[in-house]
Amino acid sequence: MTKIRLLEPDTVNKIAAGEVIERPVSVVKEFVENSIDAGASKILIEVSEGGKRLIRVADDGCGMDREDVVLAFEKHATSKISGVDDLDRIATLGFRGEALSSISSVARSVEVRTKTKSVDPTSTGTGLTIEDGKIQDVSDIGCPVGTAIEVRDLFYNVPARRKYLKSARSELAKITDLVTSYAIINYQISFELFTGKKTVFKSLRSESWDNCVLRILGSDAARSLIPIEARSENVSISGAVGKHTFTRSSPDWIMIYVNGRPVRSKSMVRAVNDAYRTLIPRGKHPIAVISLQIDPSQLDVNVHPAKTEVRFLREEELAEMLTEAIYRELLSLKDTEFSSKQMAALQLQVVEPYEVEPCNIKSSATTSQGVEPGQGQDSDRGMGVESHSAEVRSDKIATSHNALSESEKLGAKIQKILPFTSMPERLEIDLDASIDFRVMGQILKLYIVIEGPDGLVLVDQHAAAERIEYEKLQKKHRSGTLAQELIVPLNLELSPREQVMLEDWNPFLNEMGFEIVPFGGNAYNVRSVPAVGSKLESSESIHDVLKDLFDLGKVSTEATTRDDVLKLFACRGSIKAGHELTWKDMQVLLRDLLACQNPKTCPHGRPTMVTISPLQLEKIFGRR
Ligand code: ADP
Ligand code: MG
Repeated sequence: MTKIRLLEPDTVNKIAAGEVIERPVSVVKEFVENSIDAGASKILIEVSEGGKRLIRVADDGCGMDREDVVLAFEKHATSKISGVDDLDRIATLGFRGEALSSISSVARSVEVRTKTKSVDPTSTGTGLTIEDGKIQDVSDIGCPVGTAIEVRDLFYNVPARRKYLKSARSELAKITDLVTSYAIINYQISFELFTGKKTVFKSLRSESWDNCVLRILGSDAARSLIPIEARSENVSISGAVGKHTFTRSSPDWIMIYVNGRPVRSKSMVRAVNDAYRTLIPRGKHPIAVISLQIDPSQLDVNVHPAKTEVRFLREEELAEMLTEAIYRELLSLKDTEFSSKQMAALQLQVVEPYEVEPCNIKSSATTSQGVEPGQGQDSDRGMGVESHSAEVRSDKIATSHNALSESEKLGAKIQKILPFTSMPERLEIDLDASIDFRVMGQILKLYIVIEGPDGLVLVDQHAAAERIEYEKLQKKHRSGTLAQELIVPLNLELSPREQVMLEDWNPFLNEMGFEIVPFGGNAYNVRSVPAVGSKLESSESIHDVLKDLFDLGKVSTEATTRDDVLKLFACRGSIKAGHELTWKDMQVLLRDLLACQNPKTCPHGRPTMVTISPLQLEKIFGRR
């Protein structure tokens, strides 16, 4: 008896559907793409329960006649290509001809009403009903020109898939993101997305994509945009990028389109980031909407069943062209007035950390003194820092005339390795009197070097600050004093997707100290924030926190989530790596850390400090 058998068509369809239709947003994507391909000028999208119960997409495109609509649900049925040669010149969003058949195999019912344009006024449209993947009914009906297609109970017969769906709100957020990303690039089409009676997103067809960008990214972002343009034989690049002064903590707002298709492309996102390399700090990203029109023969869009990835024939060349195009515009900006010091600092930030060799320490100590003349003026002077050793001083004189030498560049990276001999004898701030800790300085803008009772102590300033902040927040949360009212409320602009998420998260955010109220359109007013010092008092940082929260997906009322959120606040509110500390900062940090219940680890469990004992030192130096 043979073991191998051919699968039933229905099974084949379900397997194929697994690749293309992952969640409700995949269905919306396929339908919206079909509507765009059909030349629609208006696309209406309705969902309920985040698309799990119902997805309905209606367009005013070319419609289908009776024979076509029946065929459309066959596997590999497409009007967009006719043979393998066409794969080289795909100009439509669809071409695989499997969306409709796949969707109908994983939904309880699909209903289509469609009508083509006709000169005959008596012509009717066609209605088609599919249940359990089988056509039940085809009939003549009256309906407007275009296509409306409706899917009910997605994955009703695929429990494994259903299990992985997120909350209705999260699914709606994904759908909102998708619709907005298509609306930006297809500005000549009006889009509306609604759920129940509520319009989640609406854009009116216009001549350029400015309006849509404004609606989605908000007015601050839109104001910061500058147009870019470049052209070569096979490629034309257009779009807009944000000024270097408008940054985000994630690359989410770098949107790349290839021939009208939103795509994920690491190389193109990197190309955008590269243009800002020396202009914005590390860890920050610009905003950008980039549309690449590429000769289809230079492109493979058939890499991924959902077509969210593409392969470029000349990827590097293209990336370079994009970086150049953006960089050119940024440079021509009048307000790109960086002082040479700022430029040097920015450049240094992109240098990777390197191993510290003992021989660098001397020159670095002098350099950091040399490049930061203002440093000595602050409060640390009073703590006896100014009495450097003679050796270091002469070193400083020796190197100060040179231009930025290699060792100086390296040296500037090691912040403040101050001469150990001139340290204050004891901390001015009262620590536990029984413990003797001497702060020696900060290195690499990240670690505090301390002589402790058990040897050499290195404290990770960010981990330590996080621990301190976290325990403070825990206390405040317990006593219900987490909120800190802002004297001047902050204005926040949220994208349609974020607005969807906020509705779900707001009660929880309230409990966690945020008061965020709608202010009309995209605008929201932030009246209070969690009390984590001044770190959360900017629209950008609040935005970042919200993004992190929304990325968690579902709101949960469990204590663990609250704790996670406190950790998040603690992280956001804390001194970062790369931040230069004064003596006072270091001392306060150390004092507060030692006062913590659990001073040895950060809230995520990483160590806040390591101790190298005298014995270990002796071993390192071969004394034993
Ligand atoms: P593909 O888009 O890859 O061709 P689909 O399964 O998505 O495959 O659709 C099959 C065919 O049905 C399309 O090629 C198109 O001819 C037709 N079709 C689907 N949706 C629409 C629509 N909204 N308007 C007009 N024709 C449509
Ligand atoms: Mg399609």
